[in-house]
Amino acid sequence: MRSAKAEICLTALQHNVARIREIAPKSKIMAVVKANAYGHGLLAVASALKSVDAFAVARVEEALTLRSGGIVKPILLLEGFFSTDELPILVANNIHTSIHIEQQLAELEEAELETPINVWLKMDTGMHRLGIRPDQCKQAISRLKHNPNVVQPARLMTHFSCADEIDNPATQKQIDLFDDLVAGEIGEQSIANSAGVVAWPASHREWIRPGITLYGVSPMCNSKAEEHGLQPVMTLTTDLIAVHDLKQGESIGYGGIWTASKDTHIGVVAIGYGDGYPRMAPEGTPVLVNGRIVPVVGRVSMDMLSVDLGIDCRDEVGDKVILWGKGLPAEVVADHIGTIAYELVTKLTQRVSLKYL
Ligand SMILES: *Cc1c(COP(=O)(O)O)cnc(C)c1O
Repeated sequence: MRSAKAEICLTALQHNVARIREIAPKSKIMAVVKANAYGHGLLAVASALKSVDAFAVARVEEALTLRSGGIVKPILLLEGFFSTDELPILVANNIHTSIHIEQQLAELEEAELETPINVWLKMDTGMHRLGIRPDQCKQAISRLKHNPNVVQPARLMTHFSCADEIDNPATQKQIDLFDDLVAGEIGEQSIANSAGVVAWPASHREWIRPGITLYGVSPMCNSKAEEHGLQPVMTLTTDLIAVHDLKQGESIGYGGIWTASKDTHIGVVAIGYGDGYPRMAPEGTPVLVNGRIVPVVGRVSMDMLSVDLGIDCRDEVGDKVILWGKGLPAEVVADHIGTIAYELVTKLTQRVSLKYL
């Protein structure tokens, strides 16, 4: 069958967890598996992550999928509950909630629950997306202490905005502010996302929250996964479905936006934006064919894209093509396209089958 497959290497996943433990040996790992484990398959990934200490997701549906799939470790809802009808579901399924706005604090005070809930207070130290403002954190902590619906003590967390930039002073400022806010508190702490794990050891607290590093992608804007000892988990592959001559002066694909400057061979690759390969990928985006990098030429269409194989190529219909993963880091492809690897791996469509190795 000639169609795109995402090969998911569970050995690489386990290697990356071991590597993360090496980097942050004193911290417990909360594996971030939101958005279908960044496109890698929620249950398969969570089931393979035997040695992590907890999981984090963004939606209650994701947490329930984990529970019905037999995952028993703690699960944190990173954005907390969205409405009070979710609270009994959290109680019944032992799902932890974050609390990031006053409204959630109040709702949790008013609720009548069978048993208390595990709470992570999310404090805004500079991201300014979610989180309690610094001047209200003391009061929020105190309200949680007096709330019988909360398992004591509540845990304390914050999230970085710029930790992928090694020289950005914002990150140390966030760490310092967090330390001020939690001074004297006994609740467990969590700051680090993947970039924090890799580049900001001062952010390794009782808990780290790695996402993208689990999947073997560098979280830093100026380094590749390999430099951090990480291995790509997803390799997106498909096949060549045509190889043909293109004469000098002939153009290719919709709009004819690319014209051959000399005679060459074009390979037609069975993947397109219908599979989640970005239509915006410009000329020159790298693709791996039989072990060598060749450029995308012309527009990516729904089911296909074209690459310039060169005049001397020996590639044949049926040969394997790698779009990213082993031998071609997703972060390199993402750079060409003007996005991040997170988006590439998360946006694959239903048409791409996940194949576990
Ligand atoms: C998504 C997310 C993470 C994981 O981020 P990575 O950069 O993938 O490691 C950690 N913490 C929070 C709050 C998140 O939303």
